[in-house]
Amino acid sequence: MATGPRHVNGASDETPRLRGTSEGGRPVWQPGLIVVGLLVVSLVCWRWVTPDYVIVRPDILLISIDTLRADRLGCYGYAEARTETIDELATGGVVFEAVTSPAPITLPSHATMLTGLIPPRHGVRDNVRYRLADSVVTLAELLREQGYQTGAFIGALPLSRTGGLAQGFDVYDDEIAPRALGDMNLIVRPERFAEEVFASAQEWLQATDDRRPVFAFVHVYDPHAPYEKPMPGTDTLSYDGEIAYVDRSLGDFLSSIRTADRWREALTIVTSDHGEGLGQHGEKTHCLFVYEQTLHVPLIVHWPNVLTPRRAALPVGLVDLMPTVLEFTGLKPLPDIDGRSLVTLARGKELNEKPLYFESLFGYLGFGWAPLRGIRLQDLKYTQAPKPELYDLRTDPLEEENLITERPDDASRLASLLREVKDEVDAPMETDRQRMSALASLGYVSAPPVETDDPSELPDPKDHIEVYERFHEAHHKCAHGKVGPALEIMASLEPDLRNSPYFYLEWGNFATKDQRWPLAEECFRKSLALDELGRDARYNLAVALFKQSDWSESVGQLDELLSRNPDHADGQLLAGLIKAQHLGMPAEALSNWNQFLELAPDHVQAGKIRKAVSQLSGRLTAGGQTTTPTDD
Ligand SMILES: [Zn+2]
Repeated sequence: MATGPRHVNGASDETPRLRGTSEGGRPVWQPGLIVVGLLVVSLVCWRWVTPDYVIVRPDILLISIDTLRADRLGCYGYAEARTETIDELATGGVVFEAVTSPAPITLPSHATMLTGLIPPRHGVRDNVRYRLADSVVTLAELLREQGYQTGAFIGALPLSRTGGLAQGFDVYDDEIAPRALGDMNLIVRPERFAEEVFASAQEWLQATDDRRPVFAFVHVYDPHAPYEKPMPGTDTLSYDGEIAYVDRSLGDFLSSIRTADRWREALTIVTSDHGEGLGQHGEKTHCLFVYEQTLHVPLIVHWPNVLTPRRAALPVGLVDLMPTVLEFTGLKPLPDIDGRSLVTLARGKELNEKPLYFESLFGYLGFGWAPLRGIRLQDLKYTQAPKPELYDLRTDPLEEENLITERPDDASRLASLLREVKDEVDAPMETDRQRMSALASLGYVSAPPVETDDPSELPDPKDHIEVYERFHEAHHKCAHGKVGPALEIMASLEPDLRNSPYFYLEWGNFATKDQRWPLAEECFRKSLALDELGRDARYNLAVALFKQSDWSESVGQLDELLSRNPDHADGQLLAGLIKAQHLGMPAEALSNWNQFLELAPDHVQAGKIRKAVSQLSGRLTAGGQTTTPTDD
């Protein structure tokens, strides 16, 4: 990064300094102040000068630390925290004390952060199967239109570009080299360490144009389970250790970029997409429940010389982040979004209370349990479920005393606010199989919604938390090579999960890992009986049948799969193989293999299949019958 002055065409270091901290004066970000007649700098420069103010398009660093509970930071009152960097930003910035995530799930929550829309309106309800529609306007798109250079640096697969968040970014670095995990080196997980993400961001920042403002979105994933770092001075790997590690990495990143003035003055925002259960309400990680343990996230806005340090107690939402950033940059908020600008609050003024929506459709999409949706208004929090809940967070921050019967008026007031929230968007469905199976390795589920007219008739997730945790335990065991014990757990869970196609798919996958083909076949058939469109279950069933030498049944399943999903490369490959090798159907095999080669020209089997195709074609043209073209 060049370190010289960023001004061009005569703007010099004598440019008047910011006076935005003057609380009585006009805010520096007020768009009306951008008066063309008063410009003293070139139009290509991004500092606009008036007699009293320099209007700045600030450089913006948006740091999202995945899975970070607010109450695990020193600046939010955690005595054991080792979060000096974040605490220092908080001391010099504005701390929003009560920030609600719209969903305890990575992709939906980040989609809200970057669009100002709640999940029912941006349409992304889960990490898997959903993608933000191109028609949705994102913060990065708006900033780029204003001349910003935009870069995103992603820590893990849930935010890979196929989720739709790349729109508006000049650079979207989601290249996550798989890595082995220390003593668990059997596992390769689709995430990378914070220091790698920060290094990539730093490299990009240093190459940016000094004359144009920058928006950098940096996403780090480390606090997400499993916990792989110890607290300084200890050997025990822990959640707090991960947070301490991220804090150190952030500190190193900020110190190295702040050798340039530009980054000392940047608008820096630290937040998170959701928290972590850590065993509260029986939930170890996140996704299923919507208690504060996973919805209460930090939001710290640090803008030296502009924002006076303070703390804002009013409950606000991650949904407010995007319109707030827009106003900081002098842009008008979009008219039809759910969030609102918090600039007034950041400047110490009053702001009215506003209902905050939250949801988790995780249990619904994965296991056919009731969806959880709710509204927070001030300190009251209502969650709609078969057994609805109402808490007063002021007196009961741990949500231990359900007031639903004691305060029916409050409950019905919030329930009626919730009824106003309608699902508006059908988000495009994810079809990237590789990403989906990698997400499955992180424990994210993928299943179609259960057909139901009345969600209140579905099981309440609260009644199934033990089942859910046992399911995760089985996953964990299987991932660590303990397939037998994993299969035992799955068998014990069947009475509770017999309506979940995803459960049977995973059970079949575990059985596959142990080459227990009849069991795998049975599981995949049960999964398909619940969801006949399940691609993975259909393909895996065909493999299980193939392994049991049931050629015609296997090909029947593959033909069924390919009639709906002709882009299924592995399906084309296997269908061609069985037809050529076992069923004496060379012409049909050629058709499958040609489609396979078109779909996956770089597949590890592509060379071999090309050879087989040319032999087969030769024989067919010569009119002769073929024998086995490949022995695999
Ligand atoms: Zn997350």
